[in-house]
Amino acid sequence: MCPMTDGAATPDANNHELTIGICGAGIGGLVLALRLAKLGFRPNLFEARSREAALSEGEFLTLAPNGMNGLRAVDCCDEVLRAGLETKAIALCNARGRRLALVDQSDHRSTFGAPSVTVKRGTLTRILIEQCEARGIAVQFDRRISGVESRIHSVSLSFLDAASLSVGLLVAADGLRSQVRSQVFPDFPAPHFTGLIGAGGIVDADIPATDGLMRMTFGEKAFFGYIKTASYPVYWFNSFAADNPDMVRGMDPHDLADRIREMHADDPFPNAAILQEVERVERSYPIFDMPPLPTWSKGRVVLLGDAAHAIGPHAGQGASMAIEDALVLSSCLAETIDHSDAFARYEALRRPRIERVVKLTRQNASRKRKSTRLGLLLRDLLLPLLLPLGIRMGRKLFAYRADLEALGPGGIDRAGQKIRQDAA
Ligand SMILES: Cc1cc2nc3c(=O)[nH]c(=O)nc-3n(C[C@H](O)[C@H](O)[C@H](O)COP(=O)(O)OP(=O)(O)OC[C@H]3O[C@@H](n4cnc5c(N)ncnc54)[C@H](O)[C@@H]3O)c2cc1C
Repeated sequence: MCPMTDGAATPDANNHELTIGICGAGIGGLVLALRLAKLGFRPNLFEARSREAALSEGEFLTLAPNGMNGLRAVDCCDEVLRAGLETKAIALCNARGRRLALVDQSDHRSTFGAPSVTVKRGTLTRILIEQCEARGIAVQFDRRISGVESRIHSVSLSFLDAASLSVGLLVAADGLRSQVRSQVFPDFPAPHFTGLIGAGGIVDADIPATDGLMRMTFGEKAFFGYIKTASYPVYWFNSFAADNPDMVRGMDPHDLADRIREMHADDPFPNAAILQEVERVERSYPIFDMPPLPTWSKGRVVLLGDAAHAIGPHAGQGASMAIEDALVLSSCLAETIDHSDAFARYEALRRPRIERVVKLTRQNASRKRKSTRLGLLLRDLLLPLLLPLGIRMGRKLFAYRADLEALGPGGIDRAGQKIRQDAA
């Protein structure tokens, strides 16, 4: 048993005097640390992976305008914009290559204040970590939290191979399979498998650039998407139906590449040509959903991002929701002396928005599942009619500015005021 050192907890101190431990230096945890530090708190981040593993994550994700605006609040928006690809439109095609719909996103920058951006996960993480390091925020890598004990005035954390310590508050930003959640809330439902697995990567392929267009195909066997600009390789992803989440787990990366190639062999050009260049697919991602949790906090522990509300990738909002959660939680902590009030306000502000995103995500996911010939025909006919509704829902999500009004329109928000002053 490792000895216990005390990281800070002062009985009955107000929030600013507490050390705030964050479990997980993923997107949500890093943004939270940056924002808390800006607001005068002392965050302390614990990440299970090594620094190298976090930075070398190869896949990519697309950040919606609301997520990009959220990054502005921690001074990372411009750098992510420079490092990523502006995603100006999405084309949805059927298995024969017929375009069913085109979602124009070229006005995102002028309408919402930021464009949609596709960026490598490792690059996004590097930008956030370097910003933390530049601000002197402690990010401790190779530190997997293995035990959590919530006490009256502190939370005690234990690690597999380091001394235990205590923090004033603990934010669980440790993702879908949150260990903190399962320890603090052992009776909460586990995430359930949605029946889809995702994969993807970045590869050089000699195909025409799409100039900011993300082209997606509802293939006969699986869903495929890619984007390519002239000076960049191809960013591709797919998702396919599976009976269980372990269907391709542990598969040799060459065999997995072959399997995915086979799924898209009959797709319209250039899907097969892209996959021809893919030698290995290192990872696949079974996609999980989580039933709404009864509460997001208990005592001095609060859940954030995927740990609180896993959202599948089908609406491209999971990372943006983690970013928004981070901004709202930090504003609530800054506005209220009592952490219980802050946690309650955070949850009340976030739940309705998360519910809207979950609804949109489920709608989009249902179109990617395997179907009968008749089902596919109906989808091809109905999609162009139904899509405008989905687009309207999506655009409502993009319009929210958590960087300016984390506490809602008219909410007193010191953090938002500070950003406005800095920008003036
Ligand atoms: C296939 C796929 C594609 C996706 N595409 C998109 C997309 O295009 N756009 C989008 O917005 N979202 C997308 N998402 C969703 C998005 O990735 C997540 O919503 C987002 O990463 C959640 O961020 P987070 O910080 O809550 O958790 P995570 O990013 O999962 O971070 C959790 C962190 O906690 C660490 N950790 C875990 N356990 C411990 C522990 N015990 N101790 C210390 N550290 C720990 C992990 O190592 C990790 O670094 C996609 C998801 C999938 C599966």
